[in-house]
Amino acid sequence: MQITPHVHSLWLEFEIKTPAGERIPRFVTSYILAGDTLTLIDTGVASTASDIFAYIESIGRKPEEIAHVLLTHSHFDHIGGNGLIAERAGPEFLGPEAEKRMIEDLDYQHSVRPVGRMRDAVSGPVKLAGFLAEGDEISPGGVATQVIHTPGHSAGSLSFFMPEEGALICGDVLPEPGTLPIYESVADTLASLERLKALQGVNVLLSAMSRAVSRDEAVSSHIESGAGYMREIDGLVRQALSEQGDDVSPGEAAAFVFERLNLPPAGLIPIVLRSMKAHLDEGAI
Ligand SMILES: [Zn+2]
Repeated sequence: MQITPHVHSLWLEFEIKTPAGERIPRFVTSYILAGDTLTLIDTGVASTASDIFAYIESIGRKPEEIAHVLLTHSHFDHIGGNGLIAERAGPEFLGPEAEKRMIEDLDYQHSVRPVGRMRDAVSGPVKLAGFLAEGDEISPGGVATQVIHTPGHSAGSLSFFMPEEGALICGDVLPEPGTLPIYESVADTLASLERLKALQGVNVLLSAMSRAVSRDEAVSSHIESGAGYMREIDGLVRQALSEQGDDVSPGEAAAFVFERLNLPPAGLIPIVLRSMKAHLDEGAI
């Protein structure tokens, strides 16, 4: 859907099959900056590349016009279409230097960050043509874009702000209440959220883990809801420590938190346990 004159948001649906054959429905978000050329921000998974191409055609453009792909971070559901998009359009891929290896070496990422069967949902790999870093001002296809380093969800996570559109795309850095908590650092995530909240001129917020399009006054309350969710989880981790003792493991903390927040036990995956480890290691917030 078109959000601002040049920014489009795409919600892409897919399924992951578990080893037991169960199908888990998921969605991912990609964005298009439709300027003189097309810029894609994040590429979904392999199976959703055709949805991206179909959307581009539905707005009267051609997939071959994709000249740049900006990656917010390296997680499989944000880079999974890379290979198919490279084949179709041959764009320049740009992303955070800190996640270069995770983006370019999919088997390496799978070995250090296994996420179920997600490796099967990824096309590619591709090479990055260059890096994006804090403070960069770029203009892909003529759409002015500022790069903001917002670590926390992952070390290199980037947000993109299009000042002429008043549009902020924050990737996965904002933990959406009710979703699986996924972040490598609690303190970095909270600092990134404060940073985004203080940004001037944001009229619309697009958060990849939410279908909500928050506008105007709703922007800062949406960002605050993510910080509130982290504080709620942190409070539960402290409660687990006081009830079960100081040697609570990330798995035990996660089970405690999941039960109280009614999160699905199938979500107790390594990347979530890492979030719990961050709460345990970093201390109370
Ligand atoms: Zn992610």
